[in-house]
Amino acid sequence: MKEELKGRMRKDTLLTHLGSHPRDQHGAVNPPVYHASTITFPTVAAREAARSKKFEGVTYGRSGTPTVFALEEALAGVEGGYRAMIVSSGLAAISVALLAFVQAGDHVLVADTVYGPTRNFCDKVLKRFGVAVTYYDPLIGAGIAALIQPNTKVVYCESPGSLTFEIQDVPAIAAAAHARGAKVLHDNTWGTPYFFPSFKHGVDVSIHAATKYIVGHSDAMLGAIVTNKESFLPVRQSMADLGYCAGPDDVYFGLRGLRTMAVRLRQHQESATRVATWLQGRPEVAEVLYPALPGARGHDLWKRDFLGASGLFGVVLKPCGKAGIDALLDGMDLFAMGASWGGFESLILPAHPEDLRTATRWTGAGPVLRLHVGLEDPEDLIADLAAGFERLHAADKAEAAE
Ligand SMILES: *Cc1c(COP(=O)(O)O)cnc(C)c1O
Repeated sequence: MKEELKGRMRKDTLLTHLGSHPRDQHGAVNPPVYHASTITFPTVAAREAARSKKFEGVTYGRSGTPTVFALEEALAGVEGGYRAMIVSSGLAAISVALLAFVQAGDHVLVADTVYGPTRNFCDKVLKRFGVAVTYYDPLIGAGIAALIQPNTKVVYCESPGSLTFEIQDVPAIAAAAHARGAKVLHDNTWGTPYFFPSFKHGVDVSIHAATKYIVGHSDAMLGAIVTNKESFLPVRQSMADLGYCAGPDDVYFGLRGLRTMAVRLRQHQESATRVATWLQGRPEVAEVLYPALPGARGHDLWKRDFLGASGLFGVVLKPCGKAGIDALLDGMDLFAMGASWGGFESLILPAHPEDLRTATRWTGAGPVLRLHVGLEDPEDLIADLAAGFERLHAADKAEAAE
């Protein structure tokens, strides 16, 4: 795409064309998958010229190839960031980004509802290296100002929160953080570069488990970090220092997935809304945790800041026995039980948010399930869930009769 068009084109067009350079590759629409470690140079001068440009061009396999650069260009452009980086998993992206901004004696503020392994990284690795971690109520908004200390370097957000889908007031948190010189890191995996424009809302570093909607087909692990201009060098240096990169085939899967992400997301949203609305009407359900539903927790902030919703949400059931839940989960025909999400298929998992909170307390009425609504026909998914509720009642009744 011509440079002067980039600023004018809408997101779907950018998703389709950014990073595609057919004239550089015999006219092929997609970049070749470069399997490369050694990069050779014909002369000393050529080698010196290539190595003089920091974090640009092809110099060694670990520092990127045209396959990697294509995905980076597309991701940064769609999210409206300065540049992107690709690593081997979402968790690798999280650790690279956090380690870029802290040293012993520093302090980070982390949302109480972050992805479990992020909390584990903070509690195990950051603390071991002398970085203090305070967890904060994800609904704190501008109130975060009271928790910022002189040594607070990072305010870490994840919106919506893992398992319980609290929507954070990211712009208010960013304003308070920036007033005190702290960086705002945001795990934007649920929002994706397509539905949550991080940089418009004051985020400095946007982190993605590209494993989810970007790859989109449950067949590769990949992480991405998109930054604004000021945050690029520290994060890129952190990535280089740690030696992180991603395998070429997985990078290619990321680029291939990204090209169709918008249409997939629109269908995930439509089907998830249909299934979530049906669940809201069920007598077994206490609450549906899907910010896109009118009246749901966080709906107003979601409407203000997000451009859409993906297919992952939570369901709080009314109190019932474990045998009932197990019977529901064990017999599903379409909803598979497994970690990760963002692929084309539907998933269901029991969730235990109460085990992962320290600053707040989860007070749901009953057991929590996490659903990923895939690309199946939503009426078939509803039938699968309806049969699950029948099994739940049968198991509950059998347990009561014992
Ligand atoms: C899955 C996930 C990650 C981790 O990504 P991996 O690619 O599995 O390492 C990080 N953040 C969120 C919100 C996730 O759902």
